[in-house]
Amino acid sequence: MTTRIKHLYIHVPFCKAICYYCDFARRIYDEKLADKWLERLEKEISDSCHEQYETIYIGGGTPSCLSPEQSEKLLSLIYPYASEVKEYTIEANPESLDSDKILLYKQYGINRISLGVQSCYDELLKSLNRKHDFKTVEDKISLLRNHGLDNISVDLMYSLPGQNMDILKDTLNRLINLDLPHLSLYSLTIEENSVFGKKGIKALDEDMEADMYELIDETLRAHGYIHYEVSNYAKAGYQSKHNLGYWNYDDFLGLSAGASGKIGNNRYTNTRDLQRYINSDDIREEDLYLSRKDQMFENVMMSLRTIYGLDLRDFEKRYGISIQETYPRALKNRNLMIRNDRLICTNLEILNSVLLDFMD
Ligand code: SF4
Repeated sequence: MTTRIKHLYIHVPFCKAICYYCDFARRIYDEKLADKWLERLEKEISDSCHEQYETIYIGGGTPSCLSPEQSEKLLSLIYPYASEVKEYTIEANPESLDSDKILLYKQYGINRISLGVQSCYDELLKSLNRKHDFKTVEDKISLLRNHGLDNISVDLMYSLPGQNMDILKDTLNRLINLDLPHLSLYSLTIEENSVFGKKGIKALDEDMEADMYELIDETLRAHGYIHYEVSNYAKAGYQSKHNLGYWNYDDFLGLSAGASGKIGNNRYTNTRDLQRYINSDDIREEDLYLSRKDQMFENVMMSLRTIYGLDLRDFEKRYGISIQETYPRALKNRNLMIRNDRLICTNLEILNSVLLDFMD
């Protein structure tokens, strides 16, 4: 049975500078290389896109680092598949966003911006090799609003070397003053291949990280944010539709170097090697067959990340078996409850330990 693919993700593998914590598929922006990448992407889009998408997400890397001409080319390639889009997001870094780009984004139907802020402290931003300061963040948020783009999400990191509870409190206050509808907060993970990993930099200890998580949670909830997913907070109505697709374990098409997708029982990842992506017809790094058992577990794992949990009727429809028959032992976990035909984890902070019960 073929089901409609509702979600499209496109990865822009370029950044103006490399952040010290980052191990994503990205490289320093080069205009000629980006032109070649766009040519290859044009072919991948025409080979792979066959329908209209409900959500489109252009991530990276840093999509806003493309030149105006390249941005327009990218958006025009996607345009034929965006006539029914409900949520169309592009990621941007504050320093590479300007009025012309915002106007262009709006012209092509983009209605949501995900802004990489990471910290409200200039010293910390420098220590991460970010190329903006907090004043630029404030200015660009005003600019977006002046252009009528107010569905703005901000990414922020905590548990950073040099950060303490006072700095975090102040950061949260600054963030709340911006009155944004969506916030994503991630604790720093030291990736082996990042600059931090190679230098042996350590994140803060687990107790401090847990204290910070608690402070974030208390503060944001007190200011009207819904903690709707492990790392995500939103004002009512601003939950990310695209990401809810991932958490609902929907199929999604991922295009470009380093992108992943999931269609039915296949999860694939494209090569992160940009030269191979540009020059080869074989761009798959990994093609993984997902057994029915894999899919059931992944579906549970993804869906329990949100406060909306797993839709039990949908689970039965997808796999032809009820959750009670599939995981009788796991359902006894006292951090799980069933309400309105949904299985919900009542304490997202300990989700990983709850998920252990779903594994054999
Ligand atoms: S964190 Fe984002 S902006 Fe920084 S190098 Fe990685 S992809 Fe680029």
